[in-house]
Amino acid sequence: AKTSLTLLGLGAMGTALARTWLGAGHPLTVWNRTASRTEPLAAEGATVAGTAAGAVAANDLVVACLLDDASVREALTDADLTGKDLVNLTTGTPAQARSLARWTRERGGRFLDGGIMAIPPMIGVPESGGYVFYSGSRSLFDTHQRTLAVPTGTRYVGGDPGFAALHDVALLSAMTGMFSGVAHAFALIRREEIAPKEFAPLLVEWLTAMATLVPGTAAQLESGDYTVGVSSNLAMMVAGNATLLRTAEEQGVSAELMTPYMELMARRLADGHADESETGVIDLLVR
Ligand code: NDP
Repeated sequence: AKTSLTLLGLGAMGTALARTWLGAGHPLTVWNRTASRTEPLAAEGATVAGTAAGAVAANDLVVACLLDDASVREALTDADLTGKDLVNLTTGTPAQARSLARWTRERGGRFLDGGIMAIPPMIGVPESGGYVFYSGSRSLFDTHQRTLAVPTGTRYVGGDPGFAALHDVALLSAMTGMFSGVAHAFALIRREEIAPKEFAPLLVEWLTAMATLVPGTAAQLESGDYTVGVSSNLAMMVAGNATLLRTAEEQGVSAELMTPYMELMARRLADGHADESETGVIDLLVR
């Protein structure tokens, strides 16, 4: 028989998760603060609980996918977590996950935190490449891995309950940098006779090629020598940054997304690291 479970939260993500479990034949109890959102799921076979505590009581495995850490605390205030396996798929910080893990253990439950690396349309679509980072109770993960793998992939990243959030946020932070670069690039061509649609594939190709440099950065961090395998040294790149900034000025584009990173590169160069790659910038960030 398929494991039965409870899902708290039927927002965009919770609803997508719920549909995959129902579709795969898992008996599912759902709860949502705004009751009207449970109606489509009830029509698809879900059992609706009137309270979060009631939903928690219905099953040993309880998955929460709410807005933020505060909403999870609020929803679980009156719930009896004794013997429960709580899987938190709500995005939060590492410290929030660690604190929720302690809180759950103190109330007699096992805790696993998750960071969802997918958007709702990727849920239930294995070829989308989506997955969830999990960390915390290994025994909970081992018990329920097959059920957790129904909506999307699973990657366990350690017993520290904060590690899933940390991996999640680290990847999202890298994405933020990438999107800020993409925004600047489109801004540069915005007023020219260059079609964004034709420019987009060039951007994708270039970013994909540059992403292959990431393992080299990791190797440098692990060796502590930031001059190994450098094909573009810091002195050359800082000189090149002047061209990037001057082009922005010529095009009437604000360089505000570019300058913070460039200033760090210049500082590292001024500290006497002309022959290194950009890896030393990381050391300037870690306080
Ligand atoms: P939505 O805004 O669509 O849904 C939010 C959910 O949280 C709703 O069920 C809402 O209930 C509930 N909620 C909010 N505040 C409270 C509260 N105080 N008490 C109880 N319930 C509350 O968000 P998503 O479903 O998109 O996201 C859910 C989680 O998944 C978030 O942590 C998000 O970061 C994460 N996530 C989302 C992704 C996405 O692309 N959508 C991607 C990766 C992660 P109500 O219906 O009553 O408002």
